Amino acid sequence: MKIAVFSTKPYWIESLNWANDRHGHALMYTKASLDAHTAVLADGFPAVCIFVNDEADRDALRVLHRGGTRLIALRCAGFNNVDLAAASELGISVARVPRYSPHAVAEHVVALIQALNRKIHRAHKRVREGNMALDGLLGMDLHGKTVGILGTGLIGRVVARIMNGFGCRVLGYDPYENDEFRQLGTYVSLERLLAESDVITLHCPLTPQTHHLINHEALGHVKPGCMIINTSRGALIDTVAAIDALKNGRIGALGLDVYEEESDLFFEDLSNQVIQDDVFARLLTFPNVIITGHQGFFTREAIEQIAETTLANVTAFERGETLENQVSRELLAAG
Ligand code: NAD
Repeated sequence: MKIAVFSTKPYWIESLNWANDRHGHALMYTKASLDAHTAVLADGFPAVCIFVNDEADRDALRVLHRGGTRLIALRCAGFNNVDLAAASELGISVARVPRYSPHAVAEHVVALIQALNRKIHRAHKRVREGNMALDGLLGMDLHGKTVGILGTGLIGRVVARIMNGFGCRVLGYDPYENDEFRQLGTYVSLERLLAESDVITLHCPLTPQTHHLINHEALGHVKPGCMIINTSRGALIDTVAAIDALKNGRIGALGLDVYEEESDLFFEDLSNQVIQDDVFARLLTFPNVIITGHQGFFTREAIEQIAETTLANVTAFERGETLENQVSRELLAAG
């Protein structure tokens, strides 16, 4: 099947070409990200492959539909960037990659926790300049600390398992509790998780219910000086509220792999440009904030699984088989 691949980077070309040896699709790569203006590039392509910051909103979907697109193949797990209602009305199917190495993201979470806790980012810079003083680098034992996991799905559970290995007490909050997590930690209310956790890590999807889950009010309930990690979706955190909480010390450390306005920033080399986003620029000034540019998924194992599942979804669609990884309003409503 002809597939227009948006937001292409060299690593995507490499992994999709690798997987395509087994699928034989006709891949057209474009660096452009998908929106209502660029959708026309997919004219004549029955399948379109997109990533986290492509915007498959109603206007973009209308243009795709006019050009003959019948499948959106997301090469990621989250689907908050697709208007599922519009896709359904237009008869466009949407498939995603629900599972791929949850270890990739979970291990990145732990890298952020320990880098912030032991101030590795600062120590590295100091030692390179011949400054071996330890002042300001004091950390804590993770052993015996409480880690709160918001969203106890695939990634949240791997994080729980790893933090058990550190000797942490693990708390979880999830409106849809599962037995696998019960083996790893204790379910509590959101309020209790916020109040008791030394480290809070976010692993729920971005939905209207979770938008700005961590806002001024929630931050009023956290343990003062707690660490917050977000590798899920940027808009789970109200960034302006987080900046206030960093300034008054309610947040003691913040690790972000995602940012609510990341679509204008991430996955590009902007080192020769002036950053226009003042909120992002303010975040960069804090010594106790580490930001990575949405690289949680970025391990060889994960990216190969993503490429394989993405193209397998297209193959299944082309053959008229049941689309196992379909996302739709109806399926979501059915739970
Ligand atoms: P998952 O579907 O397995 O788990 C999500 C969990 O969140 C589910 O258990 C669900 O019940 C729970 N949830 C739903 N609403 C909630 C709420 N209001 N409060 C608390 N929990 C809630 O998903 P996953 O594979 O564990 O991935 C989690 C998220 O990680 C994805 O939605 C995606 O946004 C993000 N992600 C980021 C990267 C990255 O590179 N940084 C890579 C993959 C996934």
